[in-house]
Amino acid sequence: MIKDYRRYFENIPTCPHCRNELSCCEAPPFHIGDGLGWGSEVLYICLNDECPLFINGWKQIAEQYGHNSSYRYMQLPGSSEANVMMVGTNDAFKGSVIDLAVVEAQNDRYQKEKQAVAALDTCVEEGNLTPVLALIVDEAAALSSRKRAISLLVGINDLSCVDPIRNHRFRDTSLESDCNLAIKQLLDKNYKKECPHCMEIIKTQAHLCMFCKQQI
Ligand SMILES: [Zn+2]
Ligand SMILES: [Zn+2]
Repeated sequence: MIKDYRRYFENIPTCPHCRNELSCCEAPPFHIGDGLGWGSEVLYICLNDECPLFINGWKQIAEQYGHNSSYRYMQLPGSSEANVMMVGTNDAFKGSVIDLAVVEAQNDRYQKEKQAVAALDTCVEEGNLTPVLALIVDEAAALSSRKRAISLLVGINDLSCVDPIRNHRFRDTSLESDCNLAIKQLLDKNYKKECPHCMEIIKTQAHLCMFCKQQI
C-alpha cells in the first residue's frame, strides 16, 4: 500500500517570514522534544535559505543557548498554527521533501496495479494476457498478485507471454521459478519447446531449429 500524499499539495501554505511556498516534507518518525509522533505524516517547512527567520536564527540560538543551530518555519497540514523546527544544518529536512511528480507516478502505477488485479478475475475466460503480464513484470506490485497472475498463464494459453517474461529480470527468485514452471507447462500444452541455442519457440518434435538452423 502506498501513501497517497497528493492531497497535501492542494493547499500549500506560504511562510509568513519570507512569503515563499513551504516545502511538503515527510514527518520524522518521532518528535524530537517529547518522543511522541507529530500526528501527521507530512510537515510543511520553509526550506528557503534566504528566509529571515532562518538567517537570524543562527545568531539568536547562539546567543540564547550557545549552540550552532537555527529555526525553520513549520506548519502542520490542516492547521494554520505557526511552529518552528530547530535545525543544525542548512540541509536538514531537504532530503525528506516530497516530490509531487514522484507521488503522482507512484499513484499512477498503483492505480494500474489495482486495475490489473481486478482484471485477473475474468482474464482467463477473456483470453486477456495484458493484466497478467503487467503484474508479472511489475517489480513494485504485490507479490501475492504477481503469484496469482503467474498461476493464470497456462489457463490463458497465450505463448506471446514467453518473451516478455524471459526478458524480465526478477528480483524474487521464487517468482522466476514459478514463471519457468508455468512456461514449461504452457509450452508442453502446445507441443512446443524453446530452442536451447536461440530460445525461439519451436515444435517439440523438431530436431533442427527453423530459426537458427542448429541441431537440437
Ligand atoms: Zn520562510
Ligand atoms: Zn534456434
